[in-house]
Amino acid sequence: MEKTHIETIIVGAGPAGTTCGYVLKKNNHDCLIIDRKDFPRDKLCGGGLTPKAHILVDKIFEGIKYDYYSVNTIDMFSQKKYICSYTLDTELRTVTRREFDNVLLREYEKSGGRKITDTVVKIEENEDKIHVTLLSGKKLSCNFLIGADGANSIVRRYLQPEFKKGIVCLEKTVEDISIRNMQVYFDKKFKNGYLYVFPNTNGYVVGYGDKRTNLQTFDKSLKEHNLMSENKTKGAYIPMFDNIDYPFRKDIILIGDAGGYADSMTGEGIYFAVKSGQNAALSIVHSQNFKLLNEDVINVIRKRKKMSELFFFAPVHGLFVYLCKKPKWLIRINRKVNQALSI
Ligand SMILES: Cc1cc2nc3c(=O)[nH]c(=O)nc-3n(C[C@H](O)[C@H](O)[C@H](O)COP(=O)(O)OP(=O)(O)OC[C@H]3O[C@@H](n4cnc5c(N)ncnc54)[C@H](O)[C@@H]3O)c2cc1C
Repeated sequence: MEKTHIETIIVGAGPAGTTCGYVLKKNNHDCLIIDRKDFPRDKLCGGGLTPKAHILVDKIFEGIKYDYYSVNTIDMFSQKKYICSYTLDTELRTVTRREFDNVLLREYEKSGGRKITDTVVKIEENEDKIHVTLLSGKKLSCNFLIGADGANSIVRRYLQPEFKKGIVCLEKTVEDISIRNMQVYFDKKFKNGYLYVFPNTNGYVVGYGDKRTNLQTFDKSLKEHNLMSENKTKGAYIPMFDNIDYPFRKDIILIGDAGGYADSMTGEGIYFAVKSGQNAALSIVHSQNFKLLNEDVINVIRKRKKMSELFFFAPVHGLFVYLCKKPKWLIRINRKVNQALSI
């Protein structure tokens, strides 16, 4: 008969959930991942892996292989004008999330992990167990519940019914391989955000999100920069500007987007999903306090939220654009900011 009690149930098989499951299985810990989608599944995302993200993924999932496109240069624009190109010390990688997330899930399964396709619709507790009800009608129980179920998390809603989901980001995929550098466009039209073009192996994705994202601004910007495509515009939430103000519990842990771990400056979330997933697993394996173990992640997310408010404050942003015309200064300042605001 199928087991109905599992030590740890992980809701969500994105990078946060699969990393957590992988680290638990490597430490011989009993766990199960539940995701509402069959994999491979689509996930709206620029697919940008910063150096710290791909270095961490390669370190945790030893020997992992996945397809990526390597980018070294970012072209920056402000108010429709080209301002500078920024060359990185270490490559950025872009991946297709459909394939990348599936590779991480296979790594988890290779380590002995199990995933079922079902949707968690209800969470309840009695004195010593957490119970989850699935859309199929199945009921399971666990000692630890991990919310890795993204920006619209049911686990987060259980801990904090009125939480704010973050900001909406719009994106289009374009099958055109003529653009090979990353592009970032700043504009007064965007409030605390930017338009990005991330090239990948099939073409590029173009997207935008800010505190008041809307379709008209997106369409207008695409026309202005000649980035139009017939493909459908899609939207999804990123938990930027999250206050991480839910109760931290020993037995119910939020990771990745569910925990609000996305960079408010850039929208980067994959690194924080992987890192918080690893920390959650280690906190269970070593009976350590997750909030303490994940403190560096929480601090960086909070600092980058403050930094983002400052960065888009008009005089500071004007100074940034001015410095972009002096790339040596820009590189120096960027290194300093990254040192101060990294883990
Ligand atoms: C448009 C856009 C562009 C982005 N670009 C980048 C980028 O270039 N680089 C970057 O680092 N980050 C980017 N991000 C952020 C990044 O996508 C997220 O931070 C990252 O996916 C978080 O991973 P996760 O594992 O926490 O959640 P997800 O990847 O969202 O996975 C959550 C999983 O939970 C499952 N699920 C949800 N609810 C339930 C339920 N009730 N029951 C069962 N399963 C459930 C879903 O099916 C899903 O598979 C972008 C986000 C958006 C929206």
